[in-house]
Amino acid sequence: MLDVRKIRLTLELRESGISDSNVLSAIEKIPREIFIPKNFRNQAYENIALPIENEQTISQPYIVALMTQSLNLLKNHKVLEIGTGTGYQSSILSLLVRRVYTIERIKSLLVKAELNFQKLKLTNIVTKHDDGNLGWKEQIPFDRIIFTAATKNISKIFFEHISEEGIIIAPIIDGQNQILTKFEKKNNKILKSSLTDVLFVPNLSGKKD
Ligand code: SAH
Repeated sequence: MLDVRKIRLTLELRESGISDSNVLSAIEKIPREIFIPKNFRNQAYENIALPIENEQTISQPYIVALMTQSLNLLKNHKVLEIGTGTGYQSSILSLLVRRVYTIERIKSLLVKAELNFQKLKLTNIVTKHDDGNLGWKEQIPFDRIIFTAATKNISKIFFEHISEEGIIIAPIIDGQNQILTKFEKKNNKILKSSLTDVLFVPNLSGKKD
């Protein structure tokens, strides 16, 4: 359903610099309201982050769009996401690439996300209940990796997880701030660039029911 609120959100994203039409059309296609608790559902198409269960949040649409656009995705890519949360970001990615692998440390959140993937008939998302900081060795290499919880630094194993020309996008904690950061692998070197200030929930180790 393409209602007025959806069109307004897409326009707002365009004006904020989201120019990749594949990303915008994925945002139009995935119904954000199904990922949001009932009492906040009327705000599903506002450009704001919203609370979900277990004191976690679903990111602001602009940040989801910016992170997705910054991954420079190709149709044949294999993407790893650390922090499934509601599964909204995974669903957007699933329309744009071959396969999405997503890890969530809180079991109850993952179960709900899986129900949403089924509801939307998204069959190219593979999930795992685990501490994402351990990576997903059985599935390397990945073309792209996205962290959706803030971390102090990216462990070396993730640079070994990505292919040549691979990209990692992550909110990196820097003192009191968090900076959305892009890491690009080129000729076995890592180029690092800062995108914008963000506010994500922290990346925590260990898994939980
Ligand atoms: N991408 C999500 C929002 C993420 S909120 C969405 O679109 O809804 C961040 C999520 O990361 C939370 O669900 C949190 O439980 C999870 N998380 C935090 N640290 C993690 C870790 N080490 N491994 C896996 N998941 C983690």
